[in-house]
Amino acid sequence: MTVAQTSSLPLAGGVDSPQASGGGFALASPTPGPSCERAGRSLLDLKADFPGMAGDWAYLDTAATAQKPQAVIDAIARCYGPDYATVHRGVYERSATMTLRFEAARAAVARFIGAATDEIVFVRGATEGINLVAQSWGQRLNAGDRILISALEHHSNIVPWQMLRDRTGIIIDVAPLTADGRIDEAALIAMIRPETRLVAIAHVSNVLGGVADVRRLADAAHAAGALLLVDGCQAAPRLALDVAALDCDFYVMSGHKLYGPTGIGVLWARAEILDSMPPWQGGGAMIETVTFEATSYAPPPGRFEAGTPHIEGVIGLAAAIDYVTGIGIERIHAHEAALVKQARAALSGLNSIHLLGPEDSAGILSFTMAGVHPHDIGTILDDAGVAIRAGHHCAQPLMGVLGVPATARASFGLYNSAEDVDRLVAGLTRVTRIFGITK
Ligand code: PMP
Repeated sequence: MTVAQTSSLPLAGGVDSPQASGGGFALASPTPGPSCERAGRSLLDLKADFPGMAGDWAYLDTAATAQKPQAVIDAIARCYGPDYATVHRGVYERSATMTLRFEAARAAVARFIGAATDEIVFVRGATEGINLVAQSWGQRLNAGDRILISALEHHSNIVPWQMLRDRTGIIIDVAPLTADGRIDEAALIAMIRPETRLVAIAHVSNVLGGVADVRRLADAAHAAGALLLVDGCQAAPRLALDVAALDCDFYVMSGHKLYGPTGIGVLWARAEILDSMPPWQGGGAMIETVTFEATSYAPPPGRFEAGTPHIEGVIGLAAAIDYVTGIGIERIHAHEAALVKQARAALSGLNSIHLLGPEDSAGILSFTMAGVHPHDIGTILDDAGVAIRAGHHCAQPLMGVLGVPATARASFGLYNSAEDVDRLVAGLTRVTRIFGITK
């Protein structure tokens, strides 16, 4: 089918964008793509850096997983090719060099989030990071202790706590949302009780895109003697992070959402908390000494990294962080915010569409369409070369709160353009035509 390639929609980065206001939003990519001036519309124009973005399609599912820049693919290929060797064990030079690169990657992650290097634990992803906390730190909880989450959490920030509850008898409380789909922070704070040991919330909602005021919640949790765990899966690719300034206690993220490889993620926790946590998996690399009778454990982070690590994942994650910081996370945030603004403005012209989430959602826009199941929206959009996500987004309880079985979700990355939004809008207009909906 034919898809509108141009439109009179407002530009991404409209009148109040730094570019439009002459704010000196100069473009530089680590491997520069065509300039925004040439493209004429987008603040960032980096598609050419991403082989996965090639072809006639608009990829709007970055909240599920981000496409990878060539720099990351090259780093992984080098790792598996001429540089390959194990880490932490080999006495030969290749292994020593790989170990240095592996540990340099840990330091790069630490710099990226304002942490100390020894506080960075490599895990498979945010899911594993939260499970690690639940299974290790969670051992100190007793029946009657409480964990407070919010109504918009991803299953990975619900189920591990339910499993802990079933083992220990803790109680899980759920804070409500505001009318525009943010965590109701005042209500959450009012729900913190003396028995609350942990508050666990998403920094950015993967469905509604709202950004939590982590510092405010950290202060409230600490005032009650509780800790704060932040699920940073959707925040790490789009918000500048400084865990010291956020003053949280645990922060988790996934590499694949941050333009890095799958199967690698990060758990950060304060050094004194990590020190106090028992290991959760036993095996090689996490020990100091082993006899048949007993084992003494390595200090963190090694204590939590049993077995041969995901070497190429760690190297690839460092390359992704390098790429993203080369562009500037603030610029990525501004770019995505402009695309969301453009999409919201255009879609609010379609009466049948119900936009969800706050006006200033970060890079993520969920919506429903009267009388049309999100899966049908997704299928028709796919036919128009637009890839969105339709479903419950691993947040089934939130769907219940919203009173819908599913939503359609467009999510943006640093490589998306105003033209991608145009395609989305054209595709959705086609959906209304197919279903005979008058706009
Ligand atoms: N939390 C949030 C907010 C997410 O968006 C996701 C991924 N959709 C996760 C946790 C889980 O991440 P992963 O599957 O990479 O472990």
